[in-house]
Amino acid sequence: MGPLTYCYLIKTRNGYIMADTGFPGKADILWNFLEEREIAPESIKLIIITHGHFDHTGSLSEIKEKTGASILINQSEGLLLKKGISPPVILTNKWIRKLSRLDKDLVVPQVIPDIMVDGNFTLTDYGLDARVIHTPGHTAGSLSVIIEGRDAIVGDLAMNFGLLSRFSYIPIIAVNMKEVYQSWRKIIDMGVQTIYPAHGKVISIDVLKNSLSKLKKTFP
Ligand SMILES: [Zn+2]
Repeated sequence: MGPLTYCYLIKTRNGYIMADTGFPGKADILWNFLEEREIAPESIKLIIITHGHFDHTGSLSEIKEKTGASILINQSEGLLLKKGISPPVILTNKWIRKLSRLDKDLVVPQVIPDIMVDGNFTLTDYGLDARVIHTPGHTAGSLSVIIEGRDAIVGDLAMNFGLLSRFSYIPIIAVNMKEVYQSWRKIIDMGVQTIYPAHGKVISIDVLKNSLSKLKKTFP
């Protein structure tokens, strides 16, 4: 459950699309990654922010400045990002929630997004057979990227903390758990095979289906 956040770089026919940008001050990790592979920063054309928490937007302004990429975010999260406000951080575990002060208003670095979406958005114009869909639950405006109908970059809609979370894959933070399950169902019904979370390793859709059916037994 360390502070590590996975960001994804997707190769397209026209360059690259990046999903999320990590904690503040972490842009060097990206520059080193690009340099080792001889990828020009300017070839990143689009940055998709799955949601506005600071471990996803922290290095955004630095990365935008150097790459010149457009920033895509959900409408409601985009309005918060413009003001430098984090979407609420609400722990799903009520016992830990009582002990924590995370539900206080948090600030994030202020960034002005280029594209604010209120629903689905196709990435065909960016050279990728993919689309961005609204998958609320972790935050109200959380987005997922569905690539070629098989792979889903989900931000924090699912987390893989393995044994630590008893293989439940539920996010440790969520504004609405019912919406989390509905968003899982949405992705499952789309025929997605592999889930790419921001925290923890890649998840097969089968374990997510399994986790959902177990949850249904516990909370009918
Ligand atoms: Zn988050």
